Amino acid sequence: MEFSTATLKALVDLARQGEGHTRPNPPVGAFVFARDGRIIGRGWHHKAGENHAEVEAIADWKKHHPRTKAHALLVTLEPCSRPGRVGACTEAIIRAQIPRVTYLCPDPNPKNRGRAQAALADYGIACEYLPYEPAADLVRAFAKRVKTGLPYVTVKLAMTLDGKIADNWGEAKWISSAASRQKTGELRERVDAIMVGAGTVRKDNPSLLAHGRPNPDLVRVVVSRSGQLPENAQIFTDGKNETLVFGNPHTALAELGRRGFNHVLCEGGKVLAASLAELGLVDEWLTVLCPKVIGERHVGEAAVFGGGKLEDVFVCLRA
Ligand SMILES: [Zn+2]
Repeated sequence: MEFSTATLKALVDLARQGEGHTRPNPPVGAFVFARDGRIIGRGWHHKAGENHAEVEAIADWKKHHPRTKAHALLVTLEPCSRPGRVGACTEAIIRAQIPRVTYLCPDPNPKNRGRAQAALADYGIACEYLPYEPAADLVRAFAKRVKTGLPYVTVKLAMTLDGKIADNWGEAKWISSAASRQKTGELRERVDAIMVGAGTVRKDNPSLLAHGRPNPDLVRVVVSRSGQLPENAQIFTDGKNETLVFGNPHTALAELGRRGFNHVLCEGGKVLAASLAELGLVDEWLTVLCPKVIGERHVGEAAVFGGGKLEDVFVCLRA
């Protein structure tokens, strides 16, 4: 069966609804198709312990189109197939008698990779791998943790044209534009934890929460060598998401990895970002380059390049 790029993109978008909620599992999406190519079932993995995407999509099909025969199942990640495991997705596909399965990314765990094909072939179900980069992107963080035990780390920094992430007084708030703060804020909805250094907590007293819909699964992490943090900081007193404190970045990431955290977003400051870089723990740098020059001035008086007509530029570097 052929799938249009629009269909593949829609499926990845569906899977993304689980981002930031599924740890230790990755986000996954699945569609069930009728013979004429219509999508008759949609599902995504909402949370660990709940149905996998394939089971959700099959349930959606049975609920809304019980009399239409399923022709194919498309899923962003190779279906799980651990033999004997109750509830393996290959078992659900076999029970539902769906004759064709296409997955867009292989299981990152070498022990499971390619197993779905063998498990389904015994029942005459064709199973093929159709590589699609955005689907591999969905499990990038999960794959890192499965292979190394450590979460995938994105470090986000906003800097001026003269390379400053704060002025001489440590003030950083107004370096990036409102539009790019909104955009990077959205990243908080897609990760498992936000990590900052103690200096950022003392200086900015941030909430470290997503601006949009509240995500109770998001955990706030502070790295503080001394452990001396202001007791009245928002992250300790707002009664919202859990906040963890660690003495150094390596201990923090090792423990988060052990607890199944896939993706950690570090929002500074520069001391923590540099420690992570020195330790080789950064997977991705998201740099917001802002058309301003601070020089020796206060951040609020920074010279604006291009008369304010230029937008911030996002640069993503991957190790
Ligand atoms: Zn599964």
